[in-house]
Amino acid sequence: MDSTIGIYIHIPFCVKKCPYCDFNSLATAHVPDKYIDAVLKELLTHVKKNPAITSKELETVYIGGGTPSLVSHNNLKRLIQVVKQTFLAQQRLEITVEINPGSVTEEWLYAIKDIGINRLNIGVQSFSNNTLKSLGRIHSAEDALRCYEYARRAGFDNVGIDFIFGVMNQSLKEWEKDLGLAISLRPEHISIYNLTIEPGTQFYKLQKNGKLTLPSEEGEILMYEDAIDKLISAGYNQYEISNFSINGFESRHNLRYWLLLDYIGLGAGAHSYISSSDRDVQRRGPDRSLQGQASNLGVRWWNVEGPDVYMHRIQDAGLAIAGEERLTRQEAIEEGIFLGLRKTRGIDDDWFSMRFNKTLKDLYLPVIERLRKQGLICEQGNNIRLTRRGVLMSNEVFLQFV
Ligand code: SF4
Repeated sequence: MDSTIGIYIHIPFCVKKCPYCDFNSLATAHVPDKYIDAVLKELLTHVKKNPAITSKELETVYIGGGTPSLVSHNNLKRLIQVVKQTFLAQQRLEITVEINPGSVTEEWLYAIKDIGINRLNIGVQSFSNNTLKSLGRIHSAEDALRCYEYARRAGFDNVGIDFIFGVMNQSLKEWEKDLGLAISLRPEHISIYNLTIEPGTQFYKLQKNGKLTLPSEEGEILMYEDAIDKLISAGYNQYEISNFSINGFESRHNLRYWLLLDYIGLGAGAHSYISSSDRDVQRRGPDRSLQGQASNLGVRWWNVEGPDVYMHRIQDAGLAIAGEERLTRQEAIEEGIFLGLRKTRGIDDDWFSMRFNKTLKDLYLPVIERLRKQGLICEQGNNIRLTRRGVLMSNEVFLQFV
């Protein structure tokens, strides 16, 4: 059972909706105070309904979106204060805020550093103004560089930057320029995502009408492999399919997702996962150990998406849950495999058998043998992980376990 917890807070507002984005976000000039009030009320309602949850140690807080850099520093301060008062915070508490280079000032960065935020994730996406324009971003390459410089000046020593590759008209040379500049800045963390066209987005409509030409699949693979080689030879450790860091600077919050650890998501559309059922948590003894042996497969729930509906529901009932599912054993196992294989270390078989009372090999020996013969997975010590080829064909590998 997990004795720690992470908190995710979703800010569903952006200056402008990007044409490729299917995240839960609305275009707005500022984040209303009443949205922050609602998030706080939601947290306190969870605690009131299940006080035992506060016995978990707070390991991470992640404020994502949307554009959290639209939240005033006073409102961020309120959020962090209440979360820290609610749980017993670990000494190494990681508090991350996602920021958009088009909506931050140096003063704001100094102010949020003062309130205990110790990790930034900057949505740079590219250092090429052409690529940024194709993506419909509100910021320029100069804004991104300035934002990074401000972050360092404000004293942030744990900074991540996000990139998108496989964009229309983006050449391999331009992508290599992005990577070269990123490496020269020496952020602690770099994430790279290929552009995917999601239903309901503007790009989806353009593609359907034949007005969007993306690089070929081979071109995208070349960009991805090139990034892996360049980042690894620059001293970054690839610890997940899309994530690289200097050792010791992995995103602890995201690792919680991949390790099936507990988190509560607050805000419109936020998802939560608690590995122990409410009943289990309430049966925890004073020494925090479980007094009874019940299902550890977990419960997952998610909030309504629309910010207005969310605020109304919170005002009326304190919670805004749209759905909930209790994972069956098979669902929990498949999720453990899918999330575990995303990590480059793969799945630790001791962890797996502690969680599911059987080793991965007990359950999937023929699949493991087949994938190994195909060169898609390999064993390293006690871990089963994707090979480089397996990473490129990860979706096919995951399907073999379902
Ligand atoms: S800034 Fe981020 S969350 Fe907001 S619309 Fe653009 S991609 Fe989506």
